[in-house]
Amino acid sequence: MMLVKFNTAADKQSRLALDDGTALYDLSARYPSLRSFLEVYPDLQDGGAYRDFPVVARDVIRCTIPVDEGSHIYLVGANYKTHAVEAGLDVPLTPVIFQKPSTALVGGGEPILLPPISSQMDYEGELAVVIGRTASRVPKSEAHRYVAGLTIVNDVTARDLQWVMLGKNRIVDWLSSKSLDKSTPIGPGVVPAGSVPDIHRLGIKTWLNGNLMQDGNTSMMVFSTYELIEFLSARVTLRPGDVISTGTPYGVGGFRNIFLKPGDVLEVQIEGVGKLTNPILQS
Ligand code: MG
Repeated sequence: MMLVKFNTAADKQSRLALDDGTALYDLSARYPSLRSFLEVYPDLQDGGAYRDFPVVARDVIRCTIPVDEGSHIYLVGANYKTHAVEAGLDVPLTPVIFQKPSTALVGGGEPILLPPISSQMDYEGELAVVIGRTASRVPKSEAHRYVAGLTIVNDVTARDLQWVMLGKNRIVDWLSSKSLDKSTPIGPGVVPAGSVPDIHRLGIKTWLNGNLMQDGNTSMMVFSTYELIEFLSARVTLRPGDVISTGTPYGVGGFRNIFLKPGDVLEVQIEGVGKLTNPILQS
């Protein structure tokens, strides 16, 4: 079961739907947003009530970004030890969090745009969690209650824009490297977190043009999803529909001189969550 959003050639408005594996049900008459669905079903389980909604023909729809415009998208830097090592970084002692604007996102199947200001765009396949309940000052022992759903993020990064000098110090330019317009796929949908036995034991793989580039497991995170929720919710209120992308495992392209080019195809697959596929286009 997966929550998705879709539009059609005739109607560009994004609508919430539920795909139960056999049919796609249009929930938008009662639930205009993912957040409105979460407010009623904070674990994304509606007990089968979705079957009362109209079925949509799959061949007339196009899947779009599954989360709501205005949701906050939090991401974590260097949250897999092996990735920190390949990037020449120390393993972080506390979570390093940044955000992306919604203008950076694209949905499953949509092109990732290569901007003229970078020649070193790189992939980062990541598990992302969708928050189901308002979370403020949540201890990690309680944090599992706040994870409603799982999705996939490809945290595409401009390696040549990642670092700038501030005086004598090298600092990360998060905006230039990770917030570029239509650079970051998310989707294809959101699956209930309860549909996998353990969110910290999921295989995660990334392919570039059919070649396996990343082959990790969510058990390898430095800070677990629940530690990230504890850290974040001590600082900001997490709202239903907000997203936390939990970092990428070893195997990105940039540290072996492989960068994205027009015509490439990226696929990120996470066990029990799905596969996110995107072509690359020059913008
Ligand atoms: Mg990342």
